Amino acid sequence: MVNQLSRFYPLPDQFELSLLQYPVLRNAGLFKPIALHPVVHPSFTAKNIRVDILRADQLHPVISGNKWFKLKYHLVQAKREGHTTLISFGGAWSNHLHALAYCANRLGLDCVGIVRGEELSLASNPMLAEADAWGMELKFVSRAQFRDVRSGLRPLLDALKLTRGYVIPEGGDGWLGMVGASTMMAQSIHGVSRYDEVITAVGTGCTFAGLRLGLPTSARLIGYSALRGQWQASAMAHRLQLCGRVGPWQLTDHYCRGGFGRSDKVLLSFIDEFYEDTQVPLEPLYSAKAMMGLMDRVQQQVIKSGSRVLFVHNGGLQGLRGIAPNE
Ligand SMILES: *Cc1c(COP(=O)(O)O)cnc(C)c1O
Repeated sequence: MVNQLSRFYPLPDQFELSLLQYPVLRNAGLFKPIALHPVVHPSFTAKNIRVDILRADQLHPVISGNKWFKLKYHLVQAKREGHTTLISFGGAWSNHLHALAYCANRLGLDCVGIVRGEELSLASNPMLAEADAWGMELKFVSRAQFRDVRSGLRPLLDALKLTRGYVIPEGGDGWLGMVGASTMMAQSIHGVSRYDEVITAVGTGCTFAGLRLGLPTSARLIGYSALRGQWQASAMAHRLQLCGRVGPWQLTDHYCRGGFGRSDKVLLSFIDEFYEDTQVPLEPLYSAKAMMGLMDRVQQQVIKSGSRVLFVHNGGLQGLRGIAPNE
């Protein structure tokens, strides 16, 4: 994997070393190996498919799952460039902003979270309230202003009078986020070459792209988007094209259940049943949708008997609080 990455990014090892120099991060256990467990579920057993789960959700209670991997090299880069303020973006329930607020707090950095939705406030949800308590300065902007960021950041930063700071793209995305995500597998306890398929939930697509870079080409990567829109597959094709030759992948919004943040009784009871069967906790924004996708793939026999599948659990359980189904 390191070889594959060094083709276009020669630095991950150095980056990793500079991260270890932050005692607070080291002591937080963020560099410990991530456990990989078999998922024992009657549907998988019936079809003779072995499913393992990468429990990245267990990495840390707040900086959980993929969020740490996407953030880590951004933190190093910010320090290299001498920044003392981190700026980033997200929605009201953003696991990314929540994790970032916590990191910044532990590292003694200032941070600003630009939140989509001018009607929101600190009282809107416990994620925002906690981010605020950790010292993140929250700026609530309209959806239109938020959207405009995609065509250029400067006007919004100027309007918010943010003249200095290291900007981390929404969700921790960007080249450094992607390279960070590519190291997720490397931090697992076991190797990865033996999987026929790897399954992950998709938001910005950063984790998916990173996994594709980090995985051997023998493994097919399947992504289940939490957002509605076919545009994502072509955006991903474009993104991966910039990375050179990558292994097979598929991205679908078939299990988004109406779109981002949408949930329903079927999804919620799936979460309960899955937990009863396997003791693996899922959340309705991402992981449950992806697991439903995998379940169908197994039941419809798209995956051959005898195959080995890896499900990447990206965390997000901290965002569960107070989410009600919107039917
Ligand atoms: C953020 C998040 C994702 C999406 O990751 P992207 O890199 O934005 O695609 C998936 N699952 C969980 C639990 C998340 O918190």
